[in-house]
Amino acid sequence: MLLRDTGLTAKELKEIVNTYMIETYERYDFIAERAEGMYLYDENGNAYLDFYGGVAVNSCGNRNERVIEAIKDQVDDIMHTFNYPYTIPQALLAKKICDTIGMEKIFYQNSGTEANECMIKMARKYGVDNYGPDRYEIITAKHGFHGRTYGAMSATGQPDNAIQQGFKPMLPGFTYAEFNNLEDFASKITKNTIAIMIEPVQGEGGVIPATEDFIQGLRKLCDDNDMLLLLDEVQTGWGRTGAPMAFMGYDVKPDIVSMAKAMGGGMPIAAVCTTKKIASAFTAGTHGSTYGGHCVSCAAAYASISEIMEKKLYENAKEVGEYLKSELSKLPHVKEARGRGLLVGCEYDIPICVEVKHGCLDRHVLITAIGDSVNRMIPPLTVTCEQVDELVKAMRESIEAAVAKVHAA
Ligand code: PLP
Repeated sequence: MLLRDTGLTAKELKEIVNTYMIETYERYDFIAERAEGMYLYDENGNAYLDFYGGVAVNSCGNRNERVIEAIKDQVDDIMHTFNYPYTIPQALLAKKICDTIGMEKIFYQNSGTEANECMIKMARKYGVDNYGPDRYEIITAKHGFHGRTYGAMSATGQPDNAIQQGFKPMLPGFTYAEFNNLEDFASKITKNTIAIMIEPVQGEGGVIPATEDFIQGLRKLCDDNDMLLLLDEVQTGWGRTGAPMAFMGYDVKPDIVSMAKAMGGGMPIAAVCTTKKIASAFTAGTHGSTYGGHCVSCAAAYASISEIMEKKLYENAKEVGEYLKSELSKLPHVKEARGRGLLVGCEYDIPICVEVKHGCLDRHVLITAIGDSVNRMIPPLTVTCEQVDELVKAMRESIEAAVAKVHAA
């Protein structure tokens, strides 16, 4: 629907949002009315170069044709039903995902948070079923992010952040260790630890990739202590880091992996994949989700994953991601340009990232800011080097303006 179809002015529409909606987001002052490929368009037809990607969701581009066709086809047949009959989109997607990433079983969910909640529950139930009632503790990483419900929030190692403040007490059974510090993780293991859970690249925590030694070391630590390795690939999954799943690029295999975002090509869907043995912890009545495995979302996910795999978008992510990092590292005040594939962070030696984000917005380029000194780029995986050049130009101008402001203050 376009603004003109509502009979409202832009001001009136924004007033409705500000009056009726509970706001936890800092609103940008434009209406996102249409989207196509690498661009979002506002109510006046201005194009915004999208390095936000709907927060790493629109990996095969905004409104990918194949995803749209799959949605239309599915809507003609069935949109939603209960999870008792067999449905075609669920079946085809389950086989496609498991075969592609070498997993045996899948459970569908609706969001990254919910998938992580499912992963935590599955690990705990497996621990309790196999080792006794106290074997439910999970070690996660400091500065990680796993979601907003009580399990996922408790797993999020940010006790001093707004994510947890005011919501205590957290769920018991979580301890936090330093990311990329194998000894710290090893030191937190107790006889009740059932799992270690991390993101292969900490996204919300400032774009910090796990080192290969760390992630492979965690795998060994888990094997040696009869523990499960849980990977949160909500943000890193489906091509983002230069491999179909990030774990495939690290040459490790998790016991359970969660996924969401890129999976649905813009439709809400998430999942957890695991082995037959671990999946057997879930039996009738132990877990469920009314919308989990929604027919239209599954059809969209099948199209999105097919597009990412057949067009090898993960290879473009790798190539363009390297180019992006090398161009960012040439900008003034950049301390480090880091990341894997097209999950890229740009850290400055002064706290200017919010200014830079707004400067880019003024120049119609969308990027995200983390804390006060890191900008994060998570564009569609279809992005080109020419579009990176446009981004870098906007960032250079925005950095220069932000630095001038700091000096003038
Ligand atoms: N886990 C990670 C690594 C994420 O990046 C996010 C969201 O950004 C989540 C979990 C939560 O996902 P959702 O917002 O879909 O619930």
